[in-house]
Amino acid sequence: MSKKRQQDKAEDIFESARASAGQSVQPVKLGLDDGFCFSCHPGVSCWNTCCHGADVTLTPHDILCLTRRLEITAEEFLSQHTAPAVWDRAGLPVAKLRMGGKDGEGPCPFLTDEGCSVYDVRPATCRYYPLGLAAIKHGDSDAKEDFHFMVKEDHCKGHDEDKRQTVAAFLEEQGIKDGDRINRGWIDILMKMASWRSLGGPGGKDISKQTKQMFFMVSTNIGAFRRFVFESKFLDTYEIDPEAAEILKTDDEALLLLGFDWLKSVIFNEPTIRMNEQVLQKAVAKVRTDLGAA
Ligand code: SF4
Ligand code: SF4
Repeated sequence: MSKKRQQDKAEDIFESARASAGQSVQPVKLGLDDGFCFSCHPGVSCWNTCCHGADVTLTPHDILCLTRRLEITAEEFLSQHTAPAVWDRAGLPVAKLRMGGKDGEGPCPFLTDEGCSVYDVRPATCRYYPLGLAAIKHGDSDAKEDFHFMVKEDHCKGHDEDKRQTVAAFLEEQGIKDGDRINRGWIDILMKMASWRSLGGPGGKDISKQTKQMFFMVSTNIGAFRRFVFESKFLDTYEIDPEAAEILKTDDEALLLLGFDWLKSVIFNEPTIRMNEQVLQKAVAKVRTDLGAA
């Protein structure tokens, strides 16, 4: 008899731009060809209301694009525009856009009378709205399937508009593809960590504070991660092709992808990045000594 499969498990990735979205999620799984009516434009009576008190978790790609657009460093961006937070289900640190007002219910720092002042580089959560993105993991296999769902909040009048489109057309119009491609490894880590956490974490323990700090550094501060790669023993420890290392000196997106692979290797022991043979032998010898097997 076959082993009983674990239950399929869905994890929401981008719920919505609003903290209250929980009650507004429509319980319908939307595929790319499914259609819906929605349009957001300056003529809607609710124009800009959703950019107050918005709950926007920033992806690594969001931070790259915003810092370039604002011509500031990641450190400046983090201190001026974000608040530290924890992505609860995974227990991992993330950065959220810091909204105005004492209670955080005020306007987004990028909101102007004309709308979003960083529209061309707005965060993924803002692009997705009113759709959410979730991924479902099937049983005990590693395969994941993305799907979308609708967030319908009373204040959002965009749902009363006649413009009908498919999910695919909406995502294309919002320019979501590039960001999703870069963020995939980050999303995988959050999802896997959420599922491990429900089992008590690797080996039944939470991951270390230092590993969480590493996750936050890769996710939010590419300059700090570059310094770590080039100014620590990183390049001696891992097998990185010299040509690739040259590219990593200036290519932020490539460095982010390396960062996610490295984190997957550190957190989940996935074979995403190869350790230098000598370092590996030393590590194996140390474990054997520690276990009294040498
Ligand atoms: S980044 Fe732009 S779209 Fe997103 S909440 Fe701020 S003003 Fe609104
Ligand atoms: S239609 Fe919805 S998304 Fe557009 S401004 Fe109004 S509340 Fe925001």
